[in-house]
Parts: sequence; C-alpha cells; structure tokens
Amino acid sequence: MTKTSSPESRAAVLREQLHLYNHQYYVLDQPSVPDVEYDRLFRELQDIEAQHPELRTPDSPTQRVGGEPLSAFKTVRHEIPMLSLDNVFSEQELRDFDRRVRSRLADQETFHYACEPKLDGIAASLLYVDGVLVRGATRGDGQQGEDITQNVRTVASIPLKLQGDDWPDELEVRGEIYLPRAGFEKINAQARQNDSKLFVNPRNAAAGSLRQLDSRITASRPLEMCCYSVALAEDQQQLFKSHSEGLQKLAQWGFLVSPLLNVVDDIEGCLDYYQSLLAQRDGLAYDIDGIVFKVNELSVQDTLGFVSRAPRWAIAHKFPAQEEITTLKEVEFQVGRTGAITPVAKLEPVFVGGVTVSNATLHNFDEVQRLGVMIGDDIIIRRAGDVIPQIVQVVEDRRPADARAIQIPEHCPVCESPLEKAPGEAVLRCTGGLICGAQRREGIKHFASRKAMDIDGLGDKLVDQLVDSGLIETIADLYSLTAPQLAGLERMGQKSADNLIAALNKSKDTTLPRFLFALGIREVGEATARNLALHFVSLENLMAADQEALLVVDDVGPIVASHIAAFFAVEHNRDVVAALVAAGIRWPEIKTGSDAQLLSGQTWVLTGNLEAMTRAEAKEKLQALGAKVAGSVSAKTDCVAAGSAAGSKLAKAQSLGIKTLDEEGLIAVLKEGGQL
Ligand code: NAD
Repeated sequence: MTKTSSPESRAAVLREQLHLYNHQYYVLDQPSVPDVEYDRLFRELQDIEAQHPELRTPDSPTQRVGGEPLSAFKTVRHEIPMLSLDNVFSEQELRDFDRRVRSRLADQETFHYACEPKLDGIAASLLYVDGVLVRGATRGDGQQGEDITQNVRTVASIPLKLQGDDWPDELEVRGEIYLPRAGFEKINAQARQNDSKLFVNPRNAAAGSLRQLDSRITASRPLEMCCYSVALAEDQQQLFKSHSEGLQKLAQWGFLVSPLLNVVDDIEGCLDYYQSLLAQRDGLAYDIDGIVFKVNELSVQDTLGFVSRAPRWAIAHKFPAQEEITTLKEVEFQVGRTGAITPVAKLEPVFVGGVTVSNATLHNFDEVQRLGVMIGDDIIIRRAGDVIPQIVQVVEDRRPADARAIQIPEHCPVCESPLEKAPGEAVLRCTGGLICGAQRREGIKHFASRKAMDIDGLGDKLVDQLVDSGLIETIADLYSLTAPQLAGLERMGQKSADNLIAALNKSKDTTLPRFLFALGIREVGEATARNLALHFVSLENLMAADQEALLVVDDVGPIVASHIAAFFAVEHNRDVVAALVAAGIRWPEIKTGSDAQLLSGQTWVLTGNLEAMTRAEAKEKLQALGAKVAGSVSAKTDCVAAGSAAGSKLAKAQSLGIKTLDEEGLIAVLKEGGQL
C-alpha cells in the first residue's frame, strides 16, 4: 500500500504495522526494524490523526504506551501510570514544544528546564517499603507491568536498602535499566563464541537480560540502573519542590542518578545542552538516543498535566539515529595484506550515526551465514560511537523475490590463486602471497603507515597510483623513486613530488621495532615487534633465529613464531629486506645497558591530557624505555602519569598508593631515558 491511498486505509495499515512492531519490540524483545523506521511510521499516523481526528481509534498506537506484559511473569498494577514521552526531532519542533508549554501557563508563572540524557534501555519501577526494596516492575503497557523483583535485585547499582532516614515509608522510584556499551560488546562476543544469536543493540540486550525467568542469567549481565523520577503519592508532595531536588534526594538515598543533569533557564539553554551532549555522545560509556527536557518545578508540572500517553511538561529531543534501514546492493571481496578475504557490503547510501555510509564490512563468511543475509535484502545498519558500521540484522519480511545468495569465492578475486581456510579459523585467505597484487599493495600501504615507517604524504590513493602505473612492485622500490617520475603522475605537481622524496628520505631514520612492524609479518603487531627487537637487538640475529629461539621472546607463541620463521625463509622477503637496508634504512643501535632499559619490567598508565606530546607519543617513548603501558590501573601498576583533567584513573592510583607523576615529572623521566 502506498502513501497515495486514502487517509483511512493508510491509517489502518499503519496501525496494524505499528501494533506488530510494538509486539516484536516490547513483548518479544526482537524488533524487526530500527527505531527510526518505527518513529517515521508513528509520525505519519500521528499526522493523519491530527488532520482527521475521526480516524483516531482508542486502540491506536498513538494513544497507548508500550506493550502488554508477558504472562510468564506476575502482573503488577502501577498506582501511578508509567507514561512514555513525546518526541521531537528538530530545533523547530523543540521551540514549538516550549511555545505550547508557555501558552498553557499564566504569564507570571516562571519555570526552568531540567536536562538529562535519554538513556536507551528499559523503563523500570522500584518499590521500597520502610527503606527496603520489595518490588521491581517493568513499565508494560503503562497501567500494568511485569514483576521482575528477582531480576532487579541482581543489578548492582540498585540499592536493596536505602541510605539516610528521610525517605517516606513507601517510595516508588523510576528509572532506566541499561547495558553499558562494553557490557554489550562482551555479551555479544560470548554469544559469537557459543554460536548463539547476537543482540542487535544494547537496548535490546538490556530488555532481553531483564526479562529472564532465571535471574542467574540476569545476574551474569552487567546491567545498570539510572534513576530519573520519584512517583509521588498525594501526601508526599512536600518532599521536594522540583525535579532536580528530587534527583538529589535519590542520590542521597543511594540511587544512581545521571551526573549529566543540568537545570537551564529557557529553551536556548536546552538547545545548548543538546549540542553539548551530542558532541559527547560517542565518548559516553552507554548509548543515549536523545535528551529529555522536563519542566523542573513540580507545581508547574501539575498545572500542565498529561495527555493520553505522555506528560505535557516533558519532551524527548531525539538524536540522529544510530541505526537505519537500507538495501544491500552487492557484496565485493577485499584482499588484505595477509591475504584475508573480507566480504564488503555495498549499500544504498544511508545517513546513520552522523555520516553517510555506503560500505560495511561483513567480516567473514561465518558472519554472512549468521546474519542469513542475501543480496537485495533490506538490512539494519548500526553505527554507534567510533565503532565501524555493522550490519546487525536482515529485515526478513522485506526480502525481495529476486534476492540472491552470497557465493563464497573459491579463487582470489585479484590474483586467481586458490583460497584456503586454516582449521579453526573463520577467515578465508588467498594463497598467492606476494604473487597477489592486492597483498603487495596492502603491504606497501601498511609499510608507509604512521605507526610503521610513517612516510608523510604517501597515502592509500598514492600507493594505488604508484602500483597501477608500474613504478613500484615492492616496498623496497619506494626508495628508488625519483622526483621526475613522481611529478609525471596525475594530480602530482613538482612540489608534492619533492615533498614525497624528502619524506621517503626522512623515513630512512627509523627504529628497529618500527622497521620490523612495517615488514607486515603476519601476527607481528607493534608490541611483538618491540619485544623481538629488544630480545634480538639486531636484525641479523632475528633473521637467523629458529622457532625455538623465537619462542623465548615475550608474547611469541608457536603460531607467531612460525609466521616469523616462514617470512624470513622466503628468498623474496630476504631480498626485499636487504634492498631496504641497502637503500639506507637505519636505526639506532639497541643498547642492552641500563639507560636503554630505564623502565624495564615496569607497568605504566597514561591518563588526562598532555600538552607537550600526544598520549600515543608518550606511550611509544615509555615503551622504548622498556615499560609496559596499560589501559587501566591495578595493583600491578608501577606509575600513573597524569596530564590535565585526569579523572578516575588518577583517583584510583592515589587510593591504591601507586606512584603518580604530572606531565613535568613524565618529561623528566623521558629526558633521563634519552627519549627527549
Ligand atoms: P521513548 O523511549 O521514546 O521515551 C520514553 C522512555 O524514555 C521512558 O519510558 C523511559 O524509559 C525513557 N527514558 C530514558 N531516559 C529518561 C529520562 N532521563 N527521563 C525520563 N524518561 C527517560 O518511548 P517508549 O514509549 O519507551 O518507546 C517508544 C520508542 O521505542 C519509539 O520512539 C521507538 O523509537 C521505539 N520502538 C521501536 C520499535 C521497533 O520496532 N524498532 C517498536 C516500538 C517502539
């Protein structure tokens, strides 16, 4: 049915569709479309109903909250209904909301707005009698929810007993139970290992974890609850006068409330808050899908009251969606530096998570099978935080009749060599080695990259151009390039050519760990390269090492050892290494004396903002002095170097009595070790 059909039939179609999506989302915890798609259809129905009020049926999804409770749980009746929130999606709509609020109030009535992040989880109610948790419930349809007392008891941030003594004898607190992103990744990583179904997003995972009949499963999921309201009984109205005071009370009684709460004077303040949280969104430890603005004064809230499914005094200003629906047009196969074949999804371009996405990795063929995805399918794509875009689900009921299966290739799409899959590995690889143009090309890109030889100006596109024009075949050929050759390339002037030659010359002064990493030996990352360099001290020693000698090195297991030995056993690789050294690549001698290993055996943690260098640079320098640089503070940490605005890591170090240094102190150590 299309949008050109009559308003009546379109409304009926939308109602039916939204009922189905509500059931999948609220009852089954298995949405089949992303929230934006639901919101678009919901909006469309609201608009039709606004223009044709006679079409607004009592059972319309626009008049109802959530979904019916699952019969597997005991039912709980909410004394005070648990409502939803109205949504706005733009500045204009938010201003309209503010205008509506003001038009309902007398001119002299002043009020503020409380601003909070809109956590993307599942609404819950907690009941305390005499300061003890006696009941936990879901929102359900707003009137009746599910009794999930056993499950909420397992959530660490929910107090079982209240602190202080000024709480009312009976207290109902409401909030959002959610799964922080790290917990979501962990649960999905486990599910992937067990070959079981993955959760689409943290909200879905939180809902699925909370509505478990076996509370041991809930207990194993790192859920948290952030509280955002007290459901006040009539005789409790004197407890506090504003929403923000209520939240302060909740914090005193032991509840987690949002540390990002802010009270502003007017709608301009709301808009500023929205922008500031939008900028912080990616860095938060949990998903938020917008901001909730609430009239702060409870007396004004009372004057404004409610409509069918939401209060008039609050609004959710949604952020741009992190999940969207689009079509998988084609799948291409990319060959990586080590021959790994990655299926890459070519998508109908779609705006999601703040950018237009037209490609997404499908990782490997196990993932293709797990998703059950076919070419032509509508799929849900998720781009949250700095995680690369992921296809999380197929919208199965939209599969077109001409959808095609994704064929697993047998030969490399670039060099035609056969593909193989090592036992126990999910990845299919090209067996062509350096015969394969794609592997050579990726190897050159890796060699030039920042953490490897750091050749300024030699980006991926230029590498492609150099290989395509036949100017280079191996990494060693880079150093025989001449300025006239480069200047002859398309889009390359004399100046850029001279700059690149200068950058190539500059890159010749490197370190042995960087050089080893740059060679692109399978499984030899930065850390392993450094350990190899420190252990063998010279390239010759490393090249002469057999498996047994390699296994002595920190972090080198049998697989890595065999990759290293295999790399240096290939004559072509030895020739390339020799050509690079002959071209003048050099590194300072690694001293085994005390000054080179000033921090040997120590574990350091870097935190806060440094001014003189980036944290990555500081890390590299500390590692060059033999230190391990870890991401979190523990009893094993020897020293925490903290720049400005350092937070919890510094506090933890101080509480554990671990040595801390400010930036000046760090610089002194680096100077002492000859790193500055
Ligand atoms: P909502 O999620 O848009 O807003 C209301 C909810 O926000 C509250 O119930 C509460 O749980 C939560 N919330 C988070 N932080 C809050 C805070 N600081 N203060 C107050 N409340 C806060 O509304 P809803 O009724 O729960 O769900 C409707 C939304 O769910 C739709 O807009 C859609 O995005 C999604 N949905 C999706 C599907 C689907 O098929 N994908 C189906 C149904 C609903």
